[in-house]
Amino acid sequence: MTKYIFVTGGVASSLGKGILAASLGKLLQARGFSVTNQKLDPYVNVDSGTLNPYEHGECYVTVDGHEADLDLGHYERFMNVEMHKVNNITTGRIYRNVIERERRGDFLGKTVQVIPHITDEIKRNVKALGMQGNYDFVITEIGGTVGDIESLPYIESVRQMKWELGRDCLCIHLTYVPFLSAAKELKTKPTQHSVKALQQEGVQPDIIILRTEHEISQEMKRKVALFCNVEADSVMQSVDASSIYRVPLNMQAERLDEIVLRKTGFDLAKVPSADMHDWNGFLEKLESATEEVKITLVGKYVQLQDAYKSIRESLTHAAAYNHRKLILNTVLSDTLTDSNVVESLKEQDGIIIAPGFGNRGVEGKLRAIRYARENNIPCLGICMGMQAMAIEFARNVLGYKDANSTEFNEMTTHNIVDMMEEQKTLLNKGGTMRIGAYPCQLKPQSLAFEVYRKPLIYERHRHRYEFNNKYRDEFEKAGMLCSGINHDSDLVEIIELKNHPFFVGVQFHPEYSSTVLNPHPLFMKFIQVAVGK
Ligand code: GLN
Repeated sequence: MTKYIFVTGGVASSLGKGILAASLGKLLQARGFSVTNQKLDPYVNVDSGTLNPYEHGECYVTVDGHEADLDLGHYERFMNVEMHKVNNITTGRIYRNVIERERRGDFLGKTVQVIPHITDEIKRNVKALGMQGNYDFVITEIGGTVGDIESLPYIESVRQMKWELGRDCLCIHLTYVPFLSAAKELKTKPTQHSVKALQQEGVQPDIIILRTEHEISQEMKRKVALFCNVEADSVMQSVDASSIYRVPLNMQAERLDEIVLRKTGFDLAKVPSADMHDWNGFLEKLESATEEVKITLVGKYVQLQDAYKSIRESLTHAAAYNHRKLILNTVLSDTLTDSNVVESLKEQDGIIIAPGFGNRGVEGKLRAIRYARENNIPCLGICMGMQAMAIEFARNVLGYKDANSTEFNEMTTHNIVDMMEEQKTLLNKGGTMRIGAYPCQLKPQSLAFEVYRKPLIYERHRHRYEFNNKYRDEFEKAGMLCSGINHDSDLVEIIELKNHPFFVGVQFHPEYSSTVLNPHPLFMKFIQVAVGK
């Protein structure tokens, strides 16, 4: 019987529900259970594909081509398992499904309502995930904060599921305990209010987790327990951690996994304890590294931490495994000019050229690429980063001064990057983007082959434009090897420069598949070369 754990949030957003849900998943998995995570997003967009990274952070892409909430990235990185479209549901999708059924006449003349039709559809999506994978645990995180109008149908679904499933369904409520510096006091009142709001919607939390900047005393936990109808050992703290990868261990110290198992009816004597050996190995490397590796990320959304979340985390993994402390600088590509490029990028061990859509900041990226190419600085270009590498090469090595992507200049005479006929053979019906995992064949005797150590790889894509095959021979003759090819369409997936320590552009997004226990080989190699090993 699958157990369903819901994670709700109160008081404020951005408390780290995703990290908490991923941490619990990790701990249960480390005890031998099969676990999956799910994110329910209360916005009306059908998926995250159209959301501005400035507002919502990066759009994460699953192997099956779903444009997902970035929390799915945390789940994959923590648990080392792949997420799919079913792991992320939005209000837009729920309503679309219900409305499509209504149009088909499935409701036989009934009035279609939020309760029960929308809530039934929400529950169906949660339970379908549990049944589909035969999981022991489904951990479902509900976006937003309790009390929001838009999350009401989700909380109502939790209420119904708790009623239907009894102890096979739990609610963990994460709240915030502010520290008033003038009074030098932690305050639990907002927590009490948010639990009241949850109770008003019919849900009694089973476990309350208090996010805080300072240690919370046993006495304060007992007080919260008393006010909120929760057992004293089910009130836990989650103190700000030096790294998100510490959180599973912090929650283990609070006995989160143990309490969840007890409440869902497991005999603890019969369940093995969590084996966190490999995880601890990673953390030790992460926390003990003192020698630095300085990487600059050049992109157009660098002001927001979450906009390139997966790239940041992939670099963190790779730096730790290379025993280096990551110093990640960022440069807003729009601001790079011929006169400040050297100043902005000097003394860096490596440069990442970020993905992106649209014209803004492209010329700055080209300047950064030229600097990396001419000064032998390790450089990894991702998706648009790879396209920019190709454009820069065409302009400054092949001498095509107007070389461009038709995304930025439709009239260019040298359309190094363009929409390709071949791409159509790869697109899903109706789709305009190449999205999700595609195979890529690697050329022997290439750096790419040396990195992956196998001839066939699968990597995730999210783009419309492609390297123009018309220029392939010319590129190769001038020293830019097209080392990764999709054989179904003959599209170029990887370019790499000979006679450069590491100058690699990838049309796909390696950052989506780096996990704590499986750092991505491309980032590993990039850091390795960057530190001169
Ligand atoms: N804008 C480019 C394209 O659509 C690259 C997209 C990206 O970097 N994800 O092809």
